[in-house]
Amino acid sequence: MAVGTIAIVILTYTMDTLAKEAPMSRRRQIYEGKAKVLFEGPEPGTIVQYFKDDATAFNNKKRGTITGKGVLNNRISEYLMTRLSEIGIPTHFVRRLNMREQLVKKVEIIPIEIVVRNVAAGSFSDRFGLAEGSPLPRSIVEYYYKSDELGDPMVLEEHITAFGWATPQELDEMLSMSIRINDFLTGLFFALGIKLIDFKLEFGRLYEGEEVRVVLADEISPDNCRLWDVKTNEKLDKDRFRRDLDRVEEAYQEVARRLGILPEGGPRDLQGPDTIQ
Ligand code: UDP
Repeated sequence: MAVGTIAIVILTYTMDTLAKEAPMSRRRQIYEGKAKVLFEGPEPGTIVQYFKDDATAFNNKKRGTITGKGVLNNRISEYLMTRLSEIGIPTHFVRRLNMREQLVKKVEIIPIEIVVRNVAAGSFSDRFGLAEGSPLPRSIVEYYYKSDELGDPMVLEEHITAFGWATPQELDEMLSMSIRINDFLTGLFFALGIKLIDFKLEFGRLYEGEEVRVVLADEISPDNCRLWDVKTNEKLDKDRFRRDLDRVEEAYQEVARRLGILPEGGPRDLQGPDTIQ
C-alpha cells in the first residue's frame, strides 16, 4: 500500500473514531437509561439526548441491540415532536445536533407514563382477554407509575394526586395533550398506511423564571408506539424485538422511510459517524 493511501486510511479511521467518541467524552453525563444517555447541554437549561442502539424489554429481562435504531429514533422523534409543536403542543425538543444526538430543554420528568390505546394489544389484550387487533369502542388512556423496582404499576388519578406525583391541574393538561397527540398522530400515520395501535408518552415540568409549564418530553418512536401496516397488519415497531420476530431493523427503517426521513444513503448510512449532520 502506498504511503499516501496508508495516511488516508489512518486519518479516516481517526476521524471516524473521534466523531463517534467526541460527544460522549466532551460532555458530562447526567444519566444513562435503557435506550438513551443524557448529557449536560451546551447552555444552561439544556440537555443532550444521545440515542443508543440498545433495546430492552420485559423490565430489562431481555436485552439486545437493534443496529441503527438510535439514528432512526433520533430522526423519527425529531420529526414527530416538530409536527406536534406546529399544532401547538409544547415539547422539550430544541434541535437535532447530529445523527445520534438532539438538544432538548431540561425538564423535571413527571414520573407517570401515559399510555393511549386505540386497538387492543400487548398487556391490554392479556388483561381483558381481547384478541390483539380488536378495535376499542373509543381511545383509552391509562397511567403507569415510572418505577423499575415496582415494574411500572398501573395507577389511578387518585394515586397520582394523593402521592403528589402530579397536581390535578398537571394531570388535566397531560390528559388533554395526550388525546390531541393521539388524534394528530393517528391521522399522520394513517396517511402513510400505518395504524397507530397504542403509544406511551412522558411529560416534564419546564421551569421558565417564575413560571412552570408542562411539556411533552422523552421521545416518540417505534420503541414506544405500536405501529401496524394498514393492509397487512405487519408490526413495524419494537414488538418485533420483544417477540423475537425477524426484520427488526427493517421495521424501524420502514417507518422512517414512510415518514420521508430515512437518512441519505439509506440503511448503509445508519452506522456512520455520529457527528455528521
Ligand atoms: N410502552 C413503553 N414503555 C413501557 C411500557 C409500554 O413505551 O415501559 C409502550 C409500548 O411500546 C406500547 C404501549 O406503551 O406501545 C402499551 O404497552 P403495553 O402496556 O401493552 O405493554 P407491553 O405489552 O409492551 O408490555
